[in-house]
Amino acid sequence: MDFQINKNIINMGSLEVITGSMFSGKSEELIRRLRRAKYAKQKIVVFSPSIDNRYGEKGIYSHGNESLEAYSVNSVNQMEEIMTENIDAQVIGIDEVQFLGEDVVKFCKKYVEYGKRIIVAGLDMSFRAEPYHPVPELMSISDRVDKLNAICTVCGKPAYASQRLINGEPAYYDDPLVMVGASENYEARCRRHHIVKYKKEEKGKILFIIGTEINVGKEEVEKNYRENIFKDKKCETLVIKSRINEFEENKSLVSTVDFSLIDLRNKIEKAVNENDYVFIRIIGGLLLPLEGYYSILDFICEYRKKSEIVIVSKNKKGLLNQVLLTVDLLKKSDLNIEKIIYKNGAEEKEYEEVIQEIKDITHLKYEIIN
Ligand SMILES: [Zn+2]
Repeated sequence: MDFQINKNIINMGSLEVITGSMFSGKSEELIRRLRRAKYAKQKIVVFSPSIDNRYGEKGIYSHGNESLEAYSVNSVNQMEEIMTENIDAQVIGIDEVQFLGEDVVKFCKKYVEYGKRIIVAGLDMSFRAEPYHPVPELMSISDRVDKLNAICTVCGKPAYASQRLINGEPAYYDDPLVMVGASENYEARCRRHHIVKYKKEEKGKILFIIGTEINVGKEEVEKNYRENIFKDKKCETLVIKSRINEFEENKSLVSTVDFSLIDLRNKIEKAVNENDYVFIRIIGGLLLPLEGYYSILDFICEYRKKSEIVIVSKNKKGLLNQVLLTVDLLKKSDLNIEKIIYKNGAEEKEYEEVIQEIKDITHLKYEIIN
């Protein structure tokens, strides 16, 4: 991971930033680079705002199995004081740099100009998944940035941000930084599983209704939801169709207008704010283009965190592969499938064992309706 220091520019300073979410190994990487410099008999000075010693005191700073001697500091002024006695240091390491405020940017610029190699490690984003200043500023003036990934504790994919949990639940955006009497911890999470809650829960829930073929009975399924399941809830229906329409589906109860992608997003946002539930009925296959080459599936993915999907299939012989294909596509896109509904029609029905088989393969709930 280290770049070779060119002997001709040995006296030029440089700034390296190691960033990423919690549990991504930033401190280990910082210690590794510092130790490497130490082996090369370079003088290093290390600052850490997080160790328990009295400020300004030199102590052992450790992370995982790694440890180094470091100065415990809580301000850039203290770092400046320590630097007066260590001005011959060639390498400066700073851990948890996000806690040192904007003055640390000036500090880094100054000592880079003095010819020091500075290596900083810190969080690039807060638990709210917003930039954690001054790390973005340091990244932009650095010679090198390494953004490390932790692993999402929910799904095992590369993590994107640090999830704050209070009593095991995702924290609210404006929860105070210290919660008295609450148990608090952090986990690494991917984009899908990183959740920031808002006190004003404005949002209605979106239900995408997707058919495995045309005229499967999506409208009846939706009607059933409105009349039986969401009886006293405020609902609205929107219809989305591909720009390529091979078949004209049954004229729906709702007038279908061709919206641009931007209008569509605005319409959905408005509907979500004004209703308890918003049905979005999809006309045309998931992979068909909505606008340009942006597919219906791409569009659904925009609502991944606030939607569920209901798959509607005709209950007729030979549905197995079609249903599995649809489920597979949705799962690979990390979408939440609520259930599969099989609509009985005039055709010969599929064996119940086949439907049970799909349940065993997909682990999805199902329902058969007339
Ligand atoms: Zn995840």
